[in-house]
Amino acid sequence: MGAGLSRRSNQFRQSATIRMSALARMLRAQGKQVLDLSIGEPDFNTPEHICEAACRAAREGYTHYPPVAGFHELREAVAVYTGKITGVSYEVEHVLVTAGAKQALSHLFQVLADPGDEVLIPAPCWVSYPDMAIAAGLKPILIPTSPENEFKLSAETLEEAIEKHTRAKILVINTPCNPTGAVYDDRTLREIAELIRVKAPHIWVVSDEVYDRLIFEGEHVSIARYLDPERVCVVNSCSKAYAMTGWRVGWLVGPAEVVKKCEFLQGQTTAGACSVSQRAAIAALTGPQDFVYKMRRVFHRRTGMAVDILSQLPEAFKPFKPAGTFYVWVSVEDLINTGIVKDGDELAEKLLKEIHVSVVGGNSFGDPGAIRLSCAASDETIFSALNRVLNYLDDLLRHGERRTHTC
Ligand code: PMP
Ligand code: GLU
Repeated sequence: MGAGLSRRSNQFRQSATIRMSALARMLRAQGKQVLDLSIGEPDFNTPEHICEAACRAAREGYTHYPPVAGFHELREAVAVYTGKITGVSYEVEHVLVTAGAKQALSHLFQVLADPGDEVLIPAPCWVSYPDMAIAAGLKPILIPTSPENEFKLSAETLEEAIEKHTRAKILVINTPCNPTGAVYDDRTLREIAELIRVKAPHIWVVSDEVYDRLIFEGEHVSIARYLDPERVCVVNSCSKAYAMTGWRVGWLVGPAEVVKKCEFLQGQTTAGACSVSQRAAIAALTGPQDFVYKMRRVFHRRTGMAVDILSQLPEAFKPFKPAGTFYVWVSVEDLINTGIVKDGDELAEKLLKEIHVSVVGGNSFGDPGAIRLSCAASDETIFSALNRVLNYLDDLLRHGERRTHTC
């Protein structure tokens, strides 16, 4: 018998979003014409002035270990940015720069709660929250939301969850939301904040705002505006706003004590975010912002187009019109009820295998009755992919089997 792995490692699963895009890439390498609507990363290039700042930084010697908590100028820029959104006056000691929002969230789950504590996560939710919680020894508790409520957690539902889950220590709020594209309004966030203040002052709120710049109408609201700054941590990154997923720069903003503990953890594990990327992030946050608005308009148009196309087959798809992000969340309950597929994952698998369209099934997002499309792909890709999907399902619905499709 070999040395064996830890019991905890048995719970680690591959991220469903990453898995589907890896499968798409593999099929493409085999010469298949795969249309990929799986991975959630902008299909734009990072703006030139940001790349230029990185090249300059490399030449100027920003090639050594960074300060573990991040460069002072970047922490300052993040404090100013988050201050504007939340109305809270943050200083540099309230900011930790991390290798993407992912690392910020992972640090927080380790620092804010003890093994066995519960993390309340409104669902559908981003695939990594439950697994990150498990990796930190915590218990993820998914709280279902519904299209009738525009996929927003209400204060009443949260109150029931808090009463039932007495070991709840963290509540995750993700607005705009991956995968539904739901955007929390001011009133809902105020009510949630008030409930926490009165009924659950022992709960931390982790507010994941990585899509805050990708709202189609109106303004982003952060729950941090309404909470005691000692109970809330805001997480964000350059990934989505500036098409910088590969640079790996994110941050968390919260009480200085939390930041300090996360900094210690970071110092013992990764030593911080890449120096060159951090210099690029300074250029992103402090430079021209027109790129963000342009990209947002494109995502608005594309998600609208995807909803319109899928709505042509109401017997199969009920797409939810997103108020932000670049995702479209699609209920496939009718296909499940008629026995065509058993869940969204099976449909995603069929679409990839049979017509080479890659989407992500809903199971890992906490709702097996749906699939998620990412519209971070060209208009042509979205158009062709969804028309392939419509033809395929139309055949299945009408003839119970598939005619030959060319892809
Ligand atoms: N939060 C959400 C809701 C996400 O969709 C993602 C996906 N990348 C992240 C956090 C992580 O972002 P980053 O690339 O900054 O690690
Ligand atoms: N957040 C993106 C997505 O949901 C990127 C992949 C990931 O990190 O999960 O597709």
